[in-house]
Amino acid sequence: MPYQPLPSSHNPPLTAIVIGAGLGGCATALALHHHGHRVLCVLDKVRAFGRLGDSLGLGQNALDLLAKWGCPVDEIKRIGNQAPNMTIRRWRDGKELAVQPLMDMAGYIGHRGDYHDVFLAWVRQRAIPIRMGCEVVAYDDVDPQPIITLKSGEQLRADIVVAADGIKSLARPLVLNMQDDPISSGYACFRAYFRPTAAQKANPKINKYMGADCVNFWIGPDLHLVQNTLRGGDEFNWIITHKDDGDVPESWFQPGDMAEVRRLVQTLDPDIRGIIEETESCLDWKICYREPLPTWVSSGTGRIALLGDSCHAHLPTSAQGASQAVESAGVLAVCLDQIAESGDVRVATRCYEKIRFPRTRMSQRNGEDLRDRWHGALKTVEEDKEIDPEDVKIKNRWLYSFDAEEDARERWNEVRALVAEEIRRGKITPLC
Ligand SMILES: Cc1cc2nc3c(=O)[nH]c(=O)nc-3n(C[C@H](O)[C@H](O)[C@H](O)COP(=O)(O)OP(=O)(O)OC[C@H]3O[C@@H](n4cnc5c(N)ncnc54)[C@H](O)[C@@H]3O)c2cc1C
Repeated sequence: MPYQPLPSSHNPPLTAIVIGAGLGGCATALALHHHGHRVLCVLDKVRAFGRLGDSLGLGQNALDLLAKWGCPVDEIKRIGNQAPNMTIRRWRDGKELAVQPLMDMAGYIGHRGDYHDVFLAWVRQRAIPIRMGCEVVAYDDVDPQPIITLKSGEQLRADIVVAADGIKSLARPLVLNMQDDPISSGYACFRAYFRPTAAQKANPKINKYMGADCVNFWIGPDLHLVQNTLRGGDEFNWIITHKDDGDVPESWFQPGDMAEVRRLVQTLDPDIRGIIEETESCLDWKICYREPLPTWVSSGTGRIALLGDSCHAHLPTSAQGASQAVESAGVLAVCLDQIAESGDVRVATRCYEKIRFPRTRMSQRNGEDLRDRWHGALKTVEEDKEIDPEDVKIKNRWLYSFDAEEDARERWNEVRALVAEEIRRGKITPLC
């Protein structure tokens, strides 16, 4: 049967504008549309998307929701890494420390740009307009519809505005009045994604991990390397997380210093070192995080809500940044279903933030825990002490078997009562 969205629980349906057409913004548009809300448009400030970023994971928790929203998730699975397992290895010699199913980690690891293309296509298939080159510069939090102003001067309004505008969110200072203070994690990532040449693929000194899809991690004291080979060996990605001395700017596009990379890998397993040394160029990403926010929702009308990296960015080791944005989209859509009328949008958004906050914190902490376990584990293995594989395994499974929408429905009455009481008293309890 052809896909049909659910009927709206409101007459007329609630209208929404989504800011940011990244994976979080696309997921929001898909979820709201599926639940019968009317997405007027998705806005993005860039004029066109390139194939940006490199490896990104989508977990089963996200894919199950997307499938419910009528998205043919096989399109994601097909272009993700097909390896059944991943191996965690010792930095200096590649000794196997643990082998576990790839699904334990990120679920489906693929190129962020390719996944993004699929998400954008799904949004377009639902005839939701994606307006490129539309930068939002101002928010006016007024009832009954907040107004957003674009750089061009154009103004738009809807019953709810969702700001999925990324880690450098403008909504965070403008809507929440929160300073955007990136906190360095003390680490940065050198990252490269390229097509190995025929000569490289044929060279037995460097081609050990190029023959087929595979994922390996080499962990060492205060650094680790991720290798991800995709498309049967046609695409190759490595990411080295290293100590950041404070001189790496926070940017997705900062060029990395290959001389520094070559110095770092001098002590690395020779089976993988060669291809890294031969890599022509890389990027250097500072890994920053933000303090958890006490609220994700505008204080006046509650009709502007943040979602995704703008309010719950993750470390790369969590492999859940995009998946948690998908969960948030589903929960927001469910909360909007539950309210009786458009005048109650603030109840929906307050419930959304209360339901989502603890889960995103647990997921964020999971990523921090893994990084610390990896970087700590090899401090003793250098003394040739055996490592318990459980100490270095990725423990993301518990995150996957979770239906965020179902959870929101189950908890709705309890959370709604709490929110109604807080609104009545005129005092919203901060999330943290
Ligand atoms: C260039 C880039 C590369 C990335 N690479 C990786 C990667 O390789 N691996 C990984 O795990 N994660 C990567 N990420 C992060 C990952 O995509 C996110 O963690 C996840 O998808 C959730 O993101 P999001 O949609 O909340 O935010 P984002 O993906 O950051 O999307 C936010 C969108 O909002 C738009 N925007 C921002 N401000 C405005 C404004 N004022 N008006 C209109 N539009 C605005 C931006 O142009 C952007 O398209 C990358 C993000 C970016 C932006």
